[in-house]
Amino acid sequence: MTTAAAQQEDKRGFEAEVSRLLHLMIHSVYSEREIFLRELISNASDACDKLRYAAIASPQLTQGAEEFAITITVDEEAKTLTIADNGIGMNHDDLISHLGTIARSGTSAFMEKLSGDDKKDVSLIGQFGVGFYSVFMVADKVTVTSRRAGEDQAWSWVSDGVSGYTVAPAVKERAGTDITLHLKDDAEEFLQSYRLQTVIKTYSDHIDLPITLVVRPKEGDESSERVNEGKALWGRPKSEVSDEQYKEFYHHVAHAMDDPWMTLHYRAEGVIEYSVLLFVPTERPHDLFDPARKNRVKLYVKRVFITDDCEDLLPGYLRFLRGVIDSQDLPLNISREMLQNNPVLSRMQKAVTNRILSELEKKAEKEPEAYQQFWDVFGSVLKEGIYEDFDRRDQLLKLARFKSSAEEGWSSLSDYVGRMGDEQNSIYYITGDSAQAVARSPQLEGYRARGIEVLYLTDPVDDFWLSMVPEFEGKALKSVTKGTADLSSDDEKDGDTEKKDEGSKHSPEIEAFINVLRQVLGDKVKDVKTSTRLVESAVCLVADENGMDMHLQRVLQQHQQATLPQSHILEINPGHPLILGLASKAMSENALTDLEDAGMLLFDQARIMEGEHPEDPIAFAQRLSALMLQASS
Ligand code: ADP
Repeated sequence: MTTAAAQQEDKRGFEAEVSRLLHLMIHSVYSEREIFLRELISNASDACDKLRYAAIASPQLTQGAEEFAITITVDEEAKTLTIADNGIGMNHDDLISHLGTIARSGTSAFMEKLSGDDKKDVSLIGQFGVGFYSVFMVADKVTVTSRRAGEDQAWSWVSDGVSGYTVAPAVKERAGTDITLHLKDDAEEFLQSYRLQTVIKTYSDHIDLPITLVVRPKEGDESSERVNEGKALWGRPKSEVSDEQYKEFYHHVAHAMDDPWMTLHYRAEGVIEYSVLLFVPTERPHDLFDPARKNRVKLYVKRVFITDDCEDLLPGYLRFLRGVIDSQDLPLNISREMLQNNPVLSRMQKAVTNRILSELEKKAEKEPEAYQQFWDVFGSVLKEGIYEDFDRRDQLLKLARFKSSAEEGWSSLSDYVGRMGDEQNSIYYITGDSAQAVARSPQLEGYRARGIEVLYLTDPVDDFWLSMVPEFEGKALKSVTKGTADLSSDDEKDGDTEKKDEGSKHSPEIEAFINVLRQVLGDKVKDVKTSTRLVESAVCLVADENGMDMHLQRVLQQHQQATLPQSHILEINPGHPLILGLASKAMSENALTDLEDAGMLLFDQARIMEGEHPEDPIAFAQRLSALMLQASS
């Protein structure tokens, strides 16, 4: 920008989304308006963290600056409240992009949740925080004067939250940001130092910087008082930290408003030294299923914030964790690139991951109900570890919980094995899109009729790890939609397929019908066989023993990763009246032509039950119409 342009006042409107948010803030009847202070202190603390980090590489950025600190000044006469920090600051363009648009992902998540009904939407403020814009709940004019560290020119951003904002050159001696709120008449409570102290203590006591409250009364002398302890929470002994403080710190690091489901705070001292303060949230963070699978835990080195984007800090399947890991051993001037394949980092990753899993194990054992709650929310993510973390596969399999045909809630694999009958040698499962859908699968009928429990595996990741886990505690894991169902009689069990085929002798009509179906369906199926797994349904499709599970094939197709579509085996229920009826015609001379439509319809019906489309929807509709016409004539 040229100097001439820099001297001009720049008047701008807010982005449409910001206007919507501001409208909500200004008209908000939200009862806990004091959270605006938490948001501003949190931003000020982040700004100091950023400058502290930048100054490692460029020490001149902080030259001459005193310690990082936050000062909150009340001016009773002017009815203003100013929150000042000596952090990284913002320049002209930063002010426009950070305070004129929706910068933060948490705020965009908030925007997505908005229903348009102000009353309902206001209650979301507490859940999301919504950052800087919350100042307009208490102020009718806000001035942000900021100077970016390393730059000479300061800028001021002024807005009433309604008509847009102006950005103009300003004078400011040191780098950092001063945010002045002209309080609304009904928000004068925030001029009272007692009220402010309570708010700061409640929400911001954990902040790692000194917070000082300065009061300029209408008459008399200015007073100044330090409000918080100003020591990083994770550096304090556990016994000195209250649940309330943990909770507020969690809100701050996670930008979340729920309570932590589990808090893990410890210090490792040994070959490498580090402090850990990690939280498992109660609710699912909005970005949990982002394809990037980024972990959000913040890496500090000797109390200096380094990054919240360090891929190698924790495995992807623990990305639901929030909090801080502070290393004593990494060099302070470590660049983000140097963090890749860093041996100290990988030792820390290993040890912290082990600790988390063992804490989860303890919780599962001691508080099974609470653990089920956790599993409901994060199980599908933790299960990714079974697939990608070979070393901890057994441990993760033990932590995994599943829905099943026999029990209401979640069961572990050990629970399942404990319930298995003496005759049963395998752990049976079915994969699909939801427990509701798989529970109605025709392939389950025979298992259910014989009281054999089947696990319902309904997360996309299940299909992937199943292909890598052949057994659990010596029991084979078997798909009920794949291979031969060993359900007919005891001596036919244990996968002796030859014997089973010989054993399954049926009436000549059924044999003839199978032949007709084989001819009618040709390459559409791998084979046609009688089934032991069907009870109520006439037909179903299964994959053969060595084939790809049908649900996995569908998932891969959806992700455009499938190779050639595989054909499946059509199983028919030899006891079903429809099959018996059709089979009675299979010995006649014209069987092939007479039964062609029925054969195709049976095949399409089996596909539909799998959640697939009929192979040729038009031909399917025509055949169905012809059949209905016959029935109605
Ligand atoms: P968030 O802090 O979650 O990103 P906000 O709406 O509170 O969302 O702030 C938007 C952005 O404005 C911040 O990400 C930051 O870049 C910038 N910002 C806000 N306050 C300050 C400050 N005191 N110093 C420097 N930058 C700030």
